[in-house]
Amino acid sequence: HSLVPKYRRVLLKLSGEALGYGGSRLGINLDEVRHMAVQLQRVHQRGVQLAVVVGGGNLLRGAQFTAGGDTIKPATAHYMGMLATVMNGLALQDTLESLGLETRLLSAIRMETVAEPFIRRRALRHLEKGRIVILAAGTGNPFVTTDTAAALRGTELEVDIVLKATRVDGVYSADPELDPNAVKYDHLTYEQVIRDGLRVMDIAAFEMCRQASLPILIFNYKQEGAIERAIAGHRIGTLISA
Ligand code: UDP
Repeated sequence: HSLVPKYRRVLLKLSGEALGYGGSRLGINLDEVRHMAVQLQRVHQRGVQLAVVVGGGNLLRGAQFTAGGDTIKPATAHYMGMLATVMNGLALQDTLESLGLETRLLSAIRMETVAEPFIRRRALRHLEKGRIVILAAGTGNPFVTTDTAAALRGTELEVDIVLKATRVDGVYSADPELDPNAVKYDHLTYEQVIRDGLRVMDIAAFEMCRQASLPILIFNYKQEGAIERAIAGHRIGTLISA
């Protein structure tokens, strides 16, 4: 199989848990960050324009943080979650740069001392210049997740595909851990996902991709070279398109 890229510009959605420790996937494990950075380097070397939306679930998820209490307001907790993504973004940025790559960290919440503000045209310019663009602070708005940020930025930056790196191999007909007859789909249409109520990404995020006819690939980043193979269009994961 050739590893020649099929896509010119991609948006990779990286969950915070890809950067965490052990089974709980918490904290920032620099070995995991480095492993991920090396994978991104391989993709970048193939000339693909790469934008990365980083999650923050390894540090804090707004909806979980306030559950069962009333001291911290839900909106506050979501802002805290967005700040968590900035910490991950900083770790990823320095790790990529330690490999000699040029990067820019763009934040949806203004904090000029650590990151550039997200400005669409500037983000496009960075991509065209071959810089890896790390998009932090999600959408900048509470009550959504970084899936929505991935769909939003993917659409406005006119990427060819949203790659959602997960710990599962793709989308299944049922939970493969509970149902021995669960089958993995190689390809689904947006309509099939809606009709069968399949779990792909947040509904709002999925709907945005569907409206823009932006394909989504759900794949397991743990497999060796998975991101590179995904970008080469190999049959891994589950592809959702029109
Ligand atoms: N978040 C938010 N708005 C956004 C993106 C994220 O409020 O546009 C908050 C939300 O509370 C979320 C947390 O930041 O739970 C961390 O992001 P996410 O859960 O998407 O991280 P992941 O699961 O991808 O690691």
